[in-house]
Amino acid sequence: MKTLTNVIDLKMYINGEWVDALSGQTHDVINPANGEVIAKAPLGDVEDAVRAIEVARQSFDSGEWADTPPVQRASYLNAIADKLEERADEFALLETLNQGKPIKESEIDVADAVACFRYYAGMITKPDGQTYHVADPMQAMVVREPVGVCSLIVPWNFPLLMSVWKIAPALAAGNTIVYKPSEVTPVSAMKLFEIIDEVGIPKGVANMVMGPGPTVGNELAESHLVDKVSFTGGTVTGRSIMKAATGNIKNISLELGGKSPNIIFADADLETALDYTLMAIFFNQGEVCSAGSRLLIEDKIHDQFVERLIERAKKIVVGSGHSPETEMGPLVSQAHMEKVLKYIEIGKEEGARIVLGGNRLMNNGLDKGFFMEPTIFVDGTPDMRIVQEEIFGPVLVVQKFSNEKEAIELANNTKYGLAAGVFTQDAAKGLRVIKKLRAGITWLNNYGPTYNEAPWGGYKQSGIGRGLGTFGLDEYTEIKQININLQVEPVGWYKN
Ligand code: NAD
Repeated sequence: MKTLTNVIDLKMYINGEWVDALSGQTHDVINPANGEVIAKAPLGDVEDAVRAIEVARQSFDSGEWADTPPVQRASYLNAIADKLEERADEFALLETLNQGKPIKESEIDVADAVACFRYYAGMITKPDGQTYHVADPMQAMVVREPVGVCSLIVPWNFPLLMSVWKIAPALAAGNTIVYKPSEVTPVSAMKLFEIIDEVGIPKGVANMVMGPGPTVGNELAESHLVDKVSFTGGTVTGRSIMKAATGNIKNISLELGGKSPNIIFADADLETALDYTLMAIFFNQGEVCSAGSRLLIEDKIHDQFVERLIERAKKIVVGSGHSPETEMGPLVSQAHMEKVLKYIEIGKEEGARIVLGGNRLMNNGLDKGFFMEPTIFVDGTPDMRIVQEEIFGPVLVVQKFSNEKEAIELANNTKYGLAAGVFTQDAAKGLRVIKKLRAGITWLNNYGPTYNEAPWGGYKQSGIGRGLGTFGLDEYTEIKQININLQVEPVGWYKN
């Protein structure tokens, strides 16, 4: 098992320089597997955010980055991808150290991050824009241009990957950025900016600040020098970012929370459904925005499916993410673990029945970390908070349905609309149900895969806009209409 010996001294990156918070203050960054301090991070404040925003504004207004030919911007992104790939093991190690997730999951995140840089490097050099046939003698066309200064704010559950999903398309499109990682997981962020620095992206184009959301994050959302805010995080925070962004009518993208249904029909291939159901809720400790945290099972197979699910979930190996045997790591922080444990108490009080887990794990040397048992509730009903609210941990709530219509009604019955899974061997039924689900990402006979090529985002209170794919690049561009007069002569509208 690999660990770090030295506490990492983190810095912010502004105008191509490594800097501390202006106040000089720092805070501890914790390894959730054992509670030890792994890094000291700058405790930035509004003044640090202002400094970074001013730099990004000046840089954008100079035109240097937007005017850099796309092929050259692409070569910077490819160089970042190459260096990230060379250091993949180190990044995976650090991600697990800071976030807790099993090392094999961190390795997937790093590989996906590499691929995301390459994907947008490729896309930005491809033809885009459109021409329109309008009345002679005019010719209309559309070109895409960068939005300007973009604030990019990300959460702690996939610290590297969520950052790259924003940084890669924003830079590819020619924007300048001020990026803020979560204060809980800033380690891989700084390492990524080491690479951004090494490849020689012009100073001032990519800036990184650290610090609390309500101060640093709020300034990034509120500042009139910022043109766009792209946020991934909780729905409550998303709402306050939306309000903060109104002052100068910012362009906004919001990737928010979820309480996604995973629907199992009696005619499903049950072994496949079981496998994906486990991944849907226990991957990344259940700290996944699109987690299938509500399991809807057709009544005919309910008891049998739950029994098999318990058998399988019981065997999940919980432990330090650095151990290759580990299948589920610790929750990201003590505060977050306590929040999840509180939801378990709420569920019991509401009358749901625990059939597996429900406790913090303290045995076998896990007492210093924030480990929890995989947990399953049955008898969930739509009025319960554990059915309606995002718990964001390894806690599955099972509901029963008796027909297609009821499955759809239950599935749509929350304020969220991020993702949904459907398991059935009747393809027509599967597609029929999916078409009725109010969710932005859906899976038929699988649950969870994400692709750089395909759009990511939610309906309802799960967000606004789409990341990834061509849609992800669109989020970082403005559309300009250009009308060209092919016969240059006075129009003659006014007589004199
Ligand atoms: P969070 O909303 O608490 O924090 C996210 C980021 O916002 C952090 O960097 C934080 O410092 C910052 N922030 C907090 N308050 C702010 C404010 N008032 N103004 C500006 N910035 C502020 O979320 P979290 O606890 O870090 O992450 C978990 C949440 O993220 C879950 O709800 C999860 O569903 C969501 N998430 C969504 C997606 C998606 O793609 N839809 C992906 C990952 C995570």
